[in-house]
Amino acid sequence: MPAGRVRVLYVGGLGRSGSTLIERLVGQLPGVCAVGELVHLWERGITDDERCGCGEPFSQCPFWLQVGKAAFGGWDEIDVSRVGALRAQVDRNRFIPALARRQVRPETRRRLAEYTSYYARLYAAVADVSGCDLVVDSSKHASLAFCLRREPDVDLRVLHLVRDPRAVAYSWGRQVLRPDTDRPSYMTRYSAVTAAKQWDVQNAAFHLLARTGCPTMRLRYEDFTAQPELALRRVASFAGRPAPDSYPFLTGAGGTWSARLDGGHSVSGNPMRFTTGPVPVSRDEKWRARMSQADQRAVTAVTWPLMAGYGYLGARS
Ligand SMILES: [Zn+2]
Repeated sequence: MPAGRVRVLYVGGLGRSGSTLIERLVGQLPGVCAVGELVHLWERGITDDERCGCGEPFSQCPFWLQVGKAAFGGWDEIDVSRVGALRAQVDRNRFIPALARRQVRPETRRRLAEYTSYYARLYAAVADVSGCDLVVDSSKHASLAFCLRREPDVDLRVLHLVRDPRAVAYSWGRQVLRPDTDRPSYMTRYSAVTAAKQWDVQNAAFHLLARTGCPTMRLRYEDFTAQPELALRRVASFAGRPAPDSYPFLTGAGGTWSARLDGGHSVSGNPMRFTTGPVPVSRDEKWRARMSQADQRAVTAVTWPLMAGYGYLGARS
């Protein structure tokens, strides 16, 4: 790997696919630093000063203070509105067809290079401060992965995470309090059909990304929960890390697994990022009993081609 090039495992897919649990477990492998959803660092971290996974406000977290200094000479040195403006110009789902082409227009290329240079500096600083040589970013958005694949200072590996769209849509329909701030706020909610359409768009985009030559590994959340040790071994090897012989944070008996989560410095993500200690590693199939039959049918109608491809229709699901 050329000097200065940082290896990044980018967790992609639609939110509520179990990415927080997987990210945190991958982050417990030696030499790996998982930092949550960096796409939200600029606004939720720097501007809104939301809480880090360690519980401190972003501006008070010693880890992020060091990262900010190493990457930019301090967070005050960044023009967050510039990052936001560039994001609006290049990092959107609607730009994916253009970003998938081999060549992009010179103006777009300049904007992309400036935009992804912020991420490259951030990843390098995370690797430096943590002493790890693999950074896990679970930003999930396909459009950001399409931008980052062109960044010369980032060695990008994409973990494309999929989950049964009925489970995902059920989760998007629930009201969930965000513990990220002192102000009462809730996670975004989608109707079942909207969640199903988003699921289609994100997953199709990651198939397209793989076809551009970006190293991509697909993992079903259901397979992860059935055999987490095996899945972590596969992920480690895909990300170029030696797979450890033992996984002391995992315990399994009779096909039921649980994990012990250590603390971390995730910048944004599912409320589970604040959890430490033992957690179940399970499929969580509450949707089967609690989601209306009409919603289940609607989700299946919207997503069935990919659902079938992933084995979620019929006996294999
Ligand atoms: Zn922290």
